Amino acid sequence: MTESYDLRISGGDVFLEGHGRAPVDLLIRDGRIAAIVDRAEPAAADEIVDVTGKLVLPGAIDPHVHLGKDIRVPRDPDDAERETASAVAGGVTTMLVYLMSSDSYVGELESARRAMDTNSHTDYGFHFVLGTPEHLREFGEYMDLGVSSFKFFMNFRGDEGKYLGMPGNDDSFMYDLLSMSAQHGAMINPHPENIELVRMFRDHDRDDDLSPLAAWNAARPAFVEAEAAQRVAYLASVTGASVYCVHTSSREAVEAIARHQRTYPNLFIETCTQYLTLDTSSAAGVYAKVNPPVRPREDVEFLWQTFLAGGIDVVGSDHNARHRVNKEKDVFSASAGFPGTGGVLPLTLAEGLRRGADLETIVNAVSTRAAKLFGMYPRKGAIMVGSDADLVVVDLDTPSVITAETQHSGAEFTPWEGTELPLSVVHTIVRGRFALRDGALTGARAGDYVPRAHSGAAALAEQQERGAHASLHV
Ligand SMILES: [Zn+2]
Repeated sequence: MTESYDLRISGGDVFLEGHGRAPVDLLIRDGRIAAIVDRAEPAAADEIVDVTGKLVLPGAIDPHVHLGKDIRVPRDPDDAERETASAVAGGVTTMLVYLMSSDSYVGELESARRAMDTNSHTDYGFHFVLGTPEHLREFGEYMDLGVSSFKFFMNFRGDEGKYLGMPGNDDSFMYDLLSMSAQHGAMINPHPENIELVRMFRDHDRDDDLSPLAAWNAARPAFVEAEAAQRVAYLASVTGASVYCVHTSSREAVEAIARHQRTYPNLFIETCTQYLTLDTSSAAGVYAKVNPPVRPREDVEFLWQTFLAGGIDVVGSDHNARHRVNKEKDVFSASAGFPGTGGVLPLTLAEGLRRGADLETIVNAVSTRAAKLFGMYPRKGAIMVGSDADLVVVDLDTPSVITAETQHSGAEFTPWEGTELPLSVVHTIVRGRFALRDGALTGARAGDYVPRAHSGAAALAEQQERGAHASLHV
């Protein structure tokens, strides 16, 4: 009796971790990769999809997403639906969403899951933004809910986070948070900016000759980011915490973290697509206002050098769907942030290949490494027997253009408007179901919650141990 499968992905070049592109077929059953076989292998499947000449990669993982009208929590169906549609259009199959509240996250998680559960095109997990003593007391409870990574805004001092409902904090709160995180096998994702220095520059005379993005960069210079990054990196080494520096934008910040990485390994670097593809002279102007700011061209080049050398762990988006009307103001009054989740894979892949990065480095940065660091590997982030059938099929020979329409975000704009790519995303498959098929959304909202036991060094150690056990039984 021959076994039968739900789906066969046939004829493609499949990216297998440690092997690169392989001419194999994937057999999928019950949402998982059931077998990886020779193209000639006869195996029946309910449906066979021919992807000859195309590249099959593990679905992208965007670990840096903000949802909801006020970017704090997803509450309405379209908070989840539109933005996850944007994600699958760009090959993302799992996203990690930041929830931000000064209330207990036990209730917040429940309501966020209600907004996501029947509406999300992607699988999803959460990070919580911690800021109150109650949050610290409930840390263990949050871990039990499957959340093992936590954001901390180093810039929320005094009233700085009030507009988002978050209280002020200081380095002693951060120290407690790092210690607790180390004890529980979690990871802290700090937003590193020294707000005292930002305030000083904010009050300086402004140079009216600068373009909007150059003016924003001048108001929050790179050393402000680097100073905070080196402070949290050092305190991580003191407490034994794993620290994941989000949206690293500048040469100064990368170097500040890298200095500590030489003596303390549990420091990880995320950058975002905008810091790899936009600079202070970009045509997007105020639409590309974000914190930290997009930087001068030299920083973009330095980030790529670091990327090519394997020094960037993860590329995420910092997706934020604030509507375009909030951007159409002068740069100092406009909202910060923009939608970007749909661009992470296509932009990083196109620009990475153009610059000579190998596929392994690119796939690692847009999928595998995030799965490992955030405790989802090997269920996510790899094409392996037993892994979820989360796949993206890319056509490297058919160009595409990024526009607000192709991004599907409720924000109704993209800072990459008109950007031409040499490739296109053809299919996005979430646990064996097409979310994007032949470049069109299918409407399937099969997304599910992904609980994560540990993150950072604790997650990596568990994966290594599991790998060691697996090879003992070969
Ligand atoms: Zn963010």
